Amino acid sequence: MSYIKVSEKGFYGDFGGAYIPEMLHPNIAELKANYESIMADPVFEEEYHALLRDFVGRPTPLYLAERLSEKYGATIYLKREDLCHTGAHKVNNTVGQILLAQRLGKKKIIAETGAGQHGVATATVCALKGMECIIYMGEVDIARQRPNVERMKILGAEVRAATSGSKTLKDATNEAMRHWISHPEDTHYIIGSVVGPHPYPDMVARFQSVISEEIIRQLQEKEGINHPDMVIACVGGGSNAAGTYYHFADNEKVDLIAVEAAGMGITSGKSAATTALGTPGILHGSKTLLMQTKDGQVTEPHSISAGLDYPGIGPLHAHLFASGRGRFIAVEDEEAMKAGIDLSRMEGIIPAIETSHAFAVLDKIDDLKGKKVVINLSGRGDKDLDTYIKWGKY
Ligand SMILES: *Cc1c(COP(=O)(O)O)cnc(C)c1O
Repeated sequence: MSYIKVSEKGFYGDFGGAYIPEMLHPNIAELKANYESIMADPVFEEEYHALLRDFVGRPTPLYLAERLSEKYGATIYLKREDLCHTGAHKVNNTVGQILLAQRLGKKKIIAETGAGQHGVATATVCALKGMECIIYMGEVDIARQRPNVERMKILGAEVRAATSGSKTLKDATNEAMRHWISHPEDTHYIIGSVVGPHPYPDMVARFQSVISEEIIRQLQEKEGINHPDMVIACVGGGSNAAGTYYHFADNEKVDLIAVEAAGMGITSGKSAATTALGTPGILHGSKTLLMQTKDGQVTEPHSISAGLDYPGIGPLHAHLFASGRGRFIAVEDEEAMKAGIDLSRMEGIIPAIETSHAFAVLDKIDDLKGKKVVINLSGRGDKDLDTYIKWGKY
């Protein structure tokens, strides 16, 4: 049994599927019928990999963090997704999906965004391919991720504010789905994480799997090994983690560490620690774990990082959690901020605050010693300068 392979109906264990309104059926059916054959087409693959190489800047380096390794008594490598064009791993997926949208004959693109990284990555590939682009973003996120909003506009995208609920990522996702329902024919919806109805989680995981594909090759070169002992990644919806785990998920010798945002504390009422607080339910078209009240109202999440401020996780991660294959650990805002400053001081890399959560976990794992560890450095901190400045303790 594979942890990473999705069933015909789009399930990972008990989680996944496509729970969608009738009116989305044609879009989802079209995607499901075509995505695997399109992705397997050698011409598609060549175009995808050429763009990853020449436009995105792949392969990203696998960097041995010497000072960090010394501090924790482990060999710690950083997979430098922060060096991707546009500053995070998100573009691996948007490059793939824009090529797919072209082959499906779509003319317009919509997307949702939290931190703005997925919005920027989508606006970027739309500019590249001359496609019309509308990005939905929560009003709160528009305020706290201003530089990314302006980047999207410079790239020619229209940014629409989601003003319902907590005015963050889940609300932007709701708005984008609504838009898609009323414009099914000419529009492709580029979902930015391993969430949403089947086949999105599987499709996005596959586009991001280039991360672990490269890690294997790079570890072979640097260490002469074909897998690390442990991989660590932060989980919002779970796309950078899915890409990092992809080729290791079925190798039980590799410990999978997933880091969620505890916000102000798991029990504070201001948290986004889905596996600690969540129960099974339907969110954005798939059965997964989500934070909800007893009568099924989605709980407003909180995290200092917009990219982790989401009340659910993708169905793959729900399965990794429920099956015990993945180790899920939650990190508070304050711990993440400190870890971000530590990484900046120790390695000369200012991480995205989402990414900082993955680093904070090093203080919470007691079996690091002597291990070969890969941390996915999902993005750079340029977009978060305002948050770092407001926090101020550096
Ligand atoms: C969007 C984002 C995340 C969270 O999204 P995943 O789908 O869980 O990867 C993490 N890190 C960075 C830098 C991001 O931009």
